[in-house]
Amino acid sequence: MFDLSTRSVLVTGGSKGIGRGIATVFARAGANVAVSARSSDETSSVAAELDQLGSGNVIGVRLDVSDPGSCADAVRIVVDAFGGLDVLCANAGIFPEARLDSMTPEQLSEVLDINVKGTVYSVQACLDPLTASGRGRVVLTSSITGPVTGYPGWSHYGASKAAQLGFMRTAAIELAPRRVTVNAILPGNILTEGLVDMGEEYIAGMARSIPLGTLGSPIDIGHLAAFLASDEAAYITGQAIVVDGGQVLPESPEAVNP
Ligand code: NAP
Repeated sequence: MFDLSTRSVLVTGGSKGIGRGIATVFARAGANVAVSARSSDETSSVAAELDQLGSGNVIGVRLDVSDPGSCADAVRIVVDAFGGLDVLCANAGIFPEARLDSMTPEQLSEVLDINVKGTVYSVQACLDPLTASGRGRVVLTSSITGPVTGYPGWSHYGASKAAQLGFMRTAAIELAPRRVTVNAILPGNILTEGLVDMGEEYIAGMARSIPLGTLGSPIDIGHLAAFLASDEAAYITGQAIVVDGGQVLPESPEAVNP
């Protein structure tokens, strides 16, 4: 539907889950894609698989978003490989459980360092090439958790995902003169490796609370990222878009299965 074949895309946290789904959609569309994460082995093997999907090149790049130097190094590698960068999908994030009564300063810092500072550092590292692109795009992966909903054990995570939206609104204004748009996707419960770790009971309970009856797939998020990266979405900026199968709509569990 959209022509993304001339785009170069960096996906942080692209080795697994939602990031891998986003990278898959761009690779299928013929974009050049850099799959990045902390594990070099995983980024290399995922890149080799995705490279088979489309006409563009897919490479793996090691990147720790909580380290500004690592972000700068990775972006340099991507720009050297592709000759520029048009799209940053700032997707890397973690969601370890910690209740307020036992959360340590270290647990809080880790979530904020990766989810909040990591978002800011990765966008900062991409500013020059995104500006040079003339059609630069930043697509953040936030969440319904924090901006819209709450869930016991994830107060620090919810704060981090809401913080991404606060960042986005001012970044969208600051970057508009550079023709760089900044938008956020708010996934509901998406069946990823990270979520599988939460256990079958959690997943079954979540599915029952979703009007469309199932968890989403990483590809569902990739499709919105692809749209936001397209020429057709050039006039959309500073927006937070929920992709959740209707999960945030019911007033009570009875509203889903009346
Ligand atoms: P996942 O399956 O656990 O994958 C996380 C990815 O991020 C991996 O590639 C991981 O690779 C990478 N990563 C983690 N820390 C990193 C760091 N410091 N620097 C660079 N890469 C890092 O998680 P997911 O479920 O796909 O979640 C991805 C994003 O979607 C997160 O921002 C999350 O908050 C958001 N989200 C997920 C859901 C859901 O239902 N799954 C719902 C709403 C929002 P390495 O460990 O090798 O670095």
